[in-house]
Amino acid sequence: MITYREAYQQGFSCLEKQGITEAQLDARLLLEYICKTDRNTLLLDGERPLQAEQQQQYEELIRQRAKHIPLQYLTGEQGFMGLTFQVNENVLIPRQDTEILVEEIMRNRFDGQRILDVCTGSGCILISLLKYSNSVCGIGCDISEPALEVARKNAVNMGVNAEWICSDLFGNISGTFDIIVSNPPYIEDEVIKTLMKEVQEHEPKLALSGGPDGLTFYRRIVRDSVKYLNPQGKLFFEIGCEQGEAVMALMKEAGYREIRIVKDYAGLDRVVHGTYGRNGE
Ligand code: GLN
Repeated sequence: MITYREAYQQGFSCLEKQGITEAQLDARLLLEYICKTDRNTLLLDGERPLQAEQQQQYEELIRQRAKHIPLQYLTGEQGFMGLTFQVNENVLIPRQDTEILVEEIMRNRFDGQRILDVCTGSGCILISLLKYSNSVCGIGCDISEPALEVARKNAVNMGVNAEWICSDLFGNISGTFDIIVSNPPYIEDEVIKTLMKEVQEHEPKLALSGGPDGLTFYRRIVRDSVKYLNPQGKLFFEIGCEQGEAVMALMKEAGYREIRIVKDYAGLDRVVHGTYGRNGE
C-alpha cells in the first residue's frame, strides 16, 4: 500500500527521467484525474492510502505519459474558452492561442449570422461561438470523419446545435455565410520534425501539416471562400506567427479589404481577418 504523496513522487520522478517538461504538474494532474481529487489533496491529505486499483491505473497513465502521449489524450479533455472539450488522437488539442481567434470573431457577431468553420477538428471554435451567442447558425466541416465524431459529441455535451459535414475544405459545402473561420493545418513540413514529441508523434499529422511552405490551405481557402461569403462577409484565420504578411497578401489579391493582423498575448501575429467585396456594396 502506498500513500497518495508517494504515488505522486514516483509518477513525477518517472516522468522527469523521460524528459517530460512539466513532470510535476502532469504527475499531479494524472493522479487527480484517477482519484477524482484536486490540488489540495496533495497539500492537505497526502498521507491518505491509495487504493490498489487507483495505483494500477495511475501507473499505467504515467507509463503512457512517459512515452510522450499528451496529457489531454490521457484524460480525454481540454479546457477552451471556459468550456471543457473532449479530445482524442483524431483531433488537435485546442490551444489557448486559438481563443484570440474566437474572441476576435465575437466582436463581429450579429443575430441571424451564419458561420462556417473550415477544418473544425474538435469543433472548439464553432462550439464556443455558438455557446456564447443566441441566434447564430453554424456549420463545421472537416476532412476527417473521426474528428467530426469528436466535434458532434462536444456539441451535444455543450447543448449546442450545429451541422457537421465531412468535406475537403468547401467540397461538400453549399450556401453562403457571413463569417468563414479556419484554423487550418499550417506547419511547414520541415518544421514538424522539430516540434516536441507530444505534437510530432501523437497529434494528427493531417491537422498539422500545411505543406512545404505551410500556406497550402490558406491558398485554397482564400481562393474558394469568396464564393461562399455573403456581401460584406468576413474571413478569419488563425496563422503561424510568421505567416501574417503572406496570408494578408493572398487575401488582398483575392479582393478582401480591411485586412488586419491581430497579435496573441505573447505579442506574436496570430489572427488575420478581412472583409470581402467593395466598401458599401
Ligand atoms: N479548428 C480546430 C482547432 O482550432 C482544428 C485545427 C486543425 O486541425 N488544424 O483546434
